Amino acid sequence: MSIEKISNITTSAVRAGINTDEHHGAVVAPLHLSSTYSLKGFNDKRQFDYSRTGNPTRATFAQVIADLEQGSVGIVTSTGMAAVHLICQLLSTDDTVVIPHDCYGGSFRLFTHLAKRGQFKLIVVDQNDQQALDNALAHKPKLVLLESPSNPLLRLVDIEEVTKVCHAVGALVAVDNTFLSPALQQPLTLGADIVFHSTTKYINGHSDVVGGVLVTKTAELGEKLAWWANCIGITGSAFDSFLALRGLKTLPVRMKQHQENALQVADFLQNHDAIDAVYFPGFPEHPGHEIATKQQAGYGAMLSFEVKGGVEAVKKLFNNLQIFTLAQSLGGVESLISHPSTMTHAGMEIADQLEAGITQSLVRISVGIEDVEDILTDLSHGLAQSQL
Ligand SMILES: *Cc1c(COP(=O)(O)O)cnc(C)c1O
Repeated sequence: MSIEKISNITTSAVRAGINTDEHHGAVVAPLHLSSTYSLKGFNDKRQFDYSRTGNPTRATFAQVIADLEQGSVGIVTSTGMAAVHLICQLLSTDDTVVIPHDCYGGSFRLFTHLAKRGQFKLIVVDQNDQQALDNALAHKPKLVLLESPSNPLLRLVDIEEVTKVCHAVGALVAVDNTFLSPALQQPLTLGADIVFHSTTKYINGHSDVVGGVLVTKTAELGEKLAWWANCIGITGSAFDSFLALRGLKTLPVRMKQHQENALQVADFLQNHDAIDAVYFPGFPEHPGHEIATKQQAGYGAMLSFEVKGGVEAVKKLFNNLQIFTLAQSLGGVESLISHPSTMTHAGMEIADQLEAGITQSLVRISVGIEDVEDILTDLSHGLAQSQL
C-alpha cells in the first residue's frame, strides 16, 4: 500500500461527514435521534422513514466506512457479532461454511452453535495448512471466513491467494478486519467480497461504544444484506454511529502512534528473560511477516507472548501493572492486557484452545497510545514480579 494511499486515508477520515448537513450547514455530521420521519404527503416518502431501516447519522457513518474500505455498501450493526451473524443470513441448511480454527472466540462460538442446530454445515480448518484448506474447499463451501491477523496468535493468511482459490470453487470470502482497521488493510482491494469489523475496537477507538460494520464489494450483495439487517433488526443505533464517526476521524493518526509504541514494546519483550516467545508479525522471523508486509500498510499494535512460569507467573504479572488494565477488549487509546484462555476464548473448549495454540501462559496485549516509556516501565516492573 503506498504512502499516498495512507495519507489519503488520513484526510478522508478527518473529513468524515464534514459539511454534509444541507439544512443548517453544521460542520460535523448531526446526531439524528428521531425514530421516525414524516412523509411529504400521501405515498410520498423521503429518503428515511424509520430508524431501524435507515437513519441519517448511521447512513453517514456507513458510507464513510464503505469508502475507506473501497467497497460499495456499508451496513452498521449493533455489535461486531451482529455483523458476523448478518453474514450467516446468506446461508441455507445445505450450505457449507469454512472458518479458521483460531478465529475470534465469539465468531467460533456462533458458527459452531448454529451448525449444531443444523443451520449450515461447518468445517473448521487451519488456513495455513494448504492441504486442510484444499480438502475443505473440495466441499464447495458457500462462504469462507478469514481473519488476518488472527486473534490471539497473530497468524497471517494471504488474503489475495486464499480468495482466489475460494472464488475458484464459487465461495464468498468474508474477512474480519478488526485487528488492523481500513487504515492498515483493505481486504476488498485484495479480492474479498465482504469485510467486517467490530467498531468497538480501533474504529471507534475510545472504548465507549460496542458496535459493528460490514462492507460489501458489490452493491447487489450489499442490498441483500441491508435487507436482512432491517428484517432481523440488528442495525446500529444513531448515538453509537455518531460516537464511532467521531472516533473514526482520528483513526489513522491513532494507528500511527499505536504502531510506533507496539514496535518498541515488541522489541522489549523479545529481549526479556521472563518471556518464552513473542508473536508479532513485525518481526522478520514471524512466519507471516512476508505476507503482512505485502498486504498490510503496517504491523498493527496487537501482540501476544508466552510468560515463563505458566499461569502463576501470568497472575503475578497482571497483579503488578499500573498502566495496563486487565480487560478483554482491544483497540482503544489505553493499553489493555488479557489472558485469552480464560477471557476472550473462554467460549472455546480447552481442547479446541490448545489445538489453536492458546496455552495457559499466553498473554495478549493491545498497545495503547500512552507515552511509550511509561508502557515499558510498567511491563518491566510486572515481568520482574512475575518471576519471583
Ligand atoms: C471484538 C471482536 C469481534 C466481536 O465484536 P463485538 O463488537 O464485541 O460484538 C469480532 N472479531 C474480532 C476480531 C474482535 O476483536
